[in-house]
Amino acid sequence: MAIGKCLVTGGAGFIGSHLVDRLLEDGHQVVVIDNFSTGRPENLGHVADNRRLSIHQADIASSDIRPLFEGVRHVFHLAALADIVPSIQQAGPYHHANVNGTLAVLEASRHAGVERFVCASSSSCYGVPDVYPTPESAPPRPMYPYALTKWVAECYVQHWHQTYGLPTVSLRMFNVFGPRSRTSGTYGAVFGVFLKQKLAGKPFTVVGDGSQTRDFTYVTDVVDAFVTAAASQLGGEIMNVGSGGHYSINRLVELLGGPVVHIPKRPGEPDCTFADTSRISSLLKWTPRISFEDGVALVLEHIDYWKEAPLWTPDSIAEATADWFKFLGDDR
Ligand code: UDP
Repeated sequence: MAIGKCLVTGGAGFIGSHLVDRLLEDGHQVVVIDNFSTGRPENLGHVADNRRLSIHQADIASSDIRPLFEGVRHVFHLAALADIVPSIQQAGPYHHANVNGTLAVLEASRHAGVERFVCASSSSCYGVPDVYPTPESAPPRPMYPYALTKWVAECYVQHWHQTYGLPTVSLRMFNVFGPRSRTSGTYGAVFGVFLKQKLAGKPFTVVGDGSQTRDFTYVTDVVDAFVTAAASQLGGEIMNVGSGGHYSINRLVELLGGPVVHIPKRPGEPDCTFADTSRISSLLKWTPRISFEDGVALVLEHIDYWKEAPLWTPDSIAEATADWFKFLGDDR
């Protein structure tokens, strides 16, 4: 990718902050927009003094962001609200951040004439798919408002390519893991939950019998996919980003090491996520480099990051996921 000015929305988040690291290492000038609602200033603390980095606290859905796009060549749009349960409880803020926010970033990018717009999309749009590994052509079946907003946002991105010729690439990420994976107050991604439980000497709360598998992809590999997409000549593309494999929760527990307690399976959860990555490997020649085992070892080296994370127990999880069962379960 030619050296230039890049803009990263959600640059203080988990994946965004790793992307900022990589762009700075590669010599780019980097503009971050983050409202710090779930992103954390600490995620950029180690690069805060870098003179090629500027950090702006702003809501992406506001028109105030426009001037920040001046001279920007590559836009990486990662800002979004994540997590399932709060999206069921309050869909409005999810629509605002994920759909209105994407529209505002698309418009700012179009007016600035950016070279490439790379969007963080989500495998959650597949819901419980019929085909594994799952190709991009699988029908969208969002199961909860978070997934819906990510899919609608992706439709906007496609439409901005179709109508205005904005050169866009949407990357449907599967389960991304690595240091700094999110630890907001809400019950969320398994790594944050398990690592805090390990630090506290408490059992891992394994959902169901733990045989369900996820396509866990290491964060620096995902970042590499973003950079490679930005450097490409593609437009109007949608590609899966996955590890090429899928790994059970029991395998994760084995690698982390510790006792286990089982909690009920949640409605609408797939037993497997597994990306068909033939499209990204043929169009971008991208392949992941970090194995699941090596990735878990790298995360364990940074386990102290989760010291301040909330500690989840079977009881607190039951309470936090009550609406999940209420709205997605069979007894609706
Ligand atoms: N999981 C688990 N215990 C937890 C949280 C999650 O066993 O306390 C499992 C969950 O059943 C799923 C996997 O970990 O199979 C990944 O869950 P996460 O919420 O991180 O991602 P998603 O389900 O959206 O793929």
